[in-house]
Amino acid sequence: MEKISVIVPCYNEQESLPIFYQEIEKTRKQDFPEIEFEYIFVDDGSKDKTLQQIKQLHQQDQKVRYISFSRNFGKEAAMLAGLDAATGDYITLMDADLQDPPHLLKQMYNTIKQEDYDCVATRRVTRKGEPAIRSLCARMFYKLINELSDVEMVDGARDYRLMTRQVAESIKSMREYNRYSKGLFTFVGFKTKWIEYENIKRIAGETKWSFWKLFKYAIEGITAFSTVPLVLSSIIGIVFCIISFLLILLIVIRTLVYGDPTSGWPSMICIIFFVSGVQLFSLGIIGQYLSKTYLEIKNRPIYIIKETEKI
Ligand code: UDP
Ligand code: MG
Repeated sequence: MEKISVIVPCYNEQESLPIFYQEIEKTRKQDFPEIEFEYIFVDDGSKDKTLQQIKQLHQQDQKVRYISFSRNFGKEAAMLAGLDAATGDYITLMDADLQDPPHLLKQMYNTIKQEDYDCVATRRVTRKGEPAIRSLCARMFYKLINELSDVEMVDGARDYRLMTRQVAESIKSMREYNRYSKGLFTFVGFKTKWIEYENIKRIAGETKWSFWKLFKYAIEGITAFSTVPLVLSSIIGIVFCIISFLLILLIVIRTLVYGDPTSGWPSMICIIFFVSGVQLFSLGIIGQYLSKTYLEIKNRPIYIIKETEKI
């Protein structure tokens, strides 16, 4: 019998969890009567009753497994922990807030089975119900990162996807600390089909992504999949050298012709400010890469498990 593993990262999801469980069970009974399921709930250091609820589900239902982190390690770490633990032939990643509709699972499964795809991913084509400024920034981010990176990032791509074990194994083999899974999935390749759907509002609770968290995640994405910013600072450096050389020529000639050595003080101040700004900016870019390298080289664990159902 074939088996599907459903990985659900959960951080403070006490309101959504029971509803999610009902929905996914409904889908399983309706669409997959012949297939074995396992649910892996990854409690990402929740501060509410999420873990108790998961444990309760585990007692009621043999299919429910759980992993609980020692603290909040972030969704990326939670997804990896789920992949590490999954035993299914097919593996899916799903949010606990039902923004990833379980009823698509059948279509995804059929696509992999019948159409020779390795992975079926989803993207939302609208961003309804999201603050306008957030959508704008997201769109700008995707434009930017696709310019900068060789690995294509799909705008509106969600983490919701169904993959074969082979794809999951290749994702697992990438043990980088700074994880940006949208990029990781494109990086590993395989034949991926995209399914589109309209944005769905979260069933209960609140989004865990503050603007600042998203901003840091965006930087992560760029530094993890592009070194173009580093090249950029070299290019700016060269351009500035050329400009300064021309300016020196200009000043020498002007002094020789007009004999006015002290004019141009305000413009000098502007130039000093501008150039030192550019320098600090470039230093910042280098700093970003350096800090990521620093974290990577420490080789710290990506997550720490406090308890699972086996113990
Ligand atoms: N999540 C997590 N750890 C975090 C933040 C979020 O495991 O630090 C989980 C969360 O419980 C949910 C999923 O990741 O199941 C997506 O989070 P959310 O719905 O807040 O993000 P959004 O859908 O707004 O992008
Ligand atoms: Mg959500």
